[in-house]
Amino acid sequence: MLTAENKKEYYQSLIDKNGEYEGVFYVGVKTTGVFCRPTCPARKPKFENCEFFETAQQALLASFRPCKRCCPLSHPHQTSELIQTLVKAVEDNPSMRWKEKDFQALSIDASTVRRQFKKRFGMTFVAYARARRMGLAIKQIKSGEAVIEAQLEAGYESGSGFREAFSRLMGVAPALLGDRTILKASWLDTKLGPMLAIADENILHLLEFVDRRGLERELERLRQRLKAAIIPGVTSPIHSIEKELKEYFEGSLREFNTPLMFFGSPFQMSVWQALNKIPYGETRSYLDIAATIGRPSAIRAAATANGANQFAIIIPCHRVINTNGDLGGYAGGLVRKKWLIDHEKLSLSKTS
Ligand SMILES: [Zn+2]
Repeated sequence: MLTAENKKEYYQSLIDKNGEYEGVFYVGVKTTGVFCRPTCPARKPKFENCEFFETAQQALLASFRPCKRCCPLSHPHQTSELIQTLVKAVEDNPSMRWKEKDFQALSIDASTVRRQFKKRFGMTFVAYARARRMGLAIKQIKSGEAVIEAQLEAGYESGSGFREAFSRLMGVAPALLGDRTILKASWLDTKLGPMLAIADENILHLLEFVDRRGLERELERLRQRLKAAIIPGVTSPIHSIEKELKEYFEGSLREFNTPLMFFGSPFQMSVWQALNKIPYGETRSYLDIAATIGRPSAIRAAATANGANQFAIIIPCHRVINTNGDLGGYAGGLVRKKWLIDHEKLSLSKTS
C-alpha cells in the first residue's frame, strides 16, 4: 500500500509533469473515472480526487479507464496502433471475453498481441481485458455503495458496459433480486494489494486477491451453486476477517477463526485439511501433502486442489512449495507467495 508520503510525492510530480516518474505510478481521477500517466497534458485534478497506483493493472481493477489524451497503456512517445485499436475495442465493449476468433475478426494475430502487451505493460491483452471487466464489475464493491437500479437506469457511465459486467459476475440487477440468496462482498485493502471477501450473514464464502487468475470463474461458480446474487456490503464474517487479516499482516495473528464455508470434492476437502495443519512459518512440499492424505502418488492432483481453495492466506496454500525448494505455483502470483512465507518466518523469529 502507498504511504501518505508516496502520495504527496506522486502528486507533486503530477503537478510538475515530471517525466522521471513515468512507469513509477499511474493516477486515477475519481471525478472523471480515467487514469493517466504522470505527464498527462490534461488539467491536473485536485489531490483529494486522485488515487495512485503502481501498475496500470491496479488502476484497471479499481475500475478506471485509460485516458484518451496521455494513453497510459502505451509506452511514452511510442504508440502502437495495434494496442490502441485493442484498447478502444475493450472500451467499446468492456464486458466481452476475448476468444481467438475475435482477434481473427479484427485481422489481428493473437500471439503478436500477447507479445506486444506483455512487453509494454507486463500483462497479456487477455489479462488487460479481464482487469478492465473485473474493475467495472467490482466498482461498487470497492466504494462500498449499494448498487441502485436507478443509478444504472440513469446510464451510469453510459455505454461502459457496467451493467453487463456487473450482472455477469454478480448476478441479476439488484432491483430484480426478489428473494434470492444474497451474498455481500467487500473490498479489503492489504499490504499485498486489494482482496475481495464474500460472505453471508454467518459464514465466509470467499477471500481472494482481486487480480488472481480464475477469480471470475470462481465467482460464477459460487453464485450458481448458491443461486445467489452478490452485492456490495459488509456482514459480521467480513468484519471478522478484515480484523484478522490486519493482525496477520502485523505479524500478531497465527491462526484464523472466521467461520469458513468449504465446498469441494472429498479429495479437495482432505487436501485443504492437510494444508490447515501446516504450522505457521513452515513449508511443506506437494509430496508431503499427498502423503499426509494417504495418496502419495497423487502429487499433481494435490497441487491442483491446493490452488482450488477459495480462501487465500487463511488456508495456507502459500506454505506448499516444490520438493527441491523452488516456490512452485501460486494463483495470486509468486511475489505474494514469497512475501507471505518470508513474513511468517520473520514474525516467528521475532517472538522466539
Ligand atoms: Zn491523461
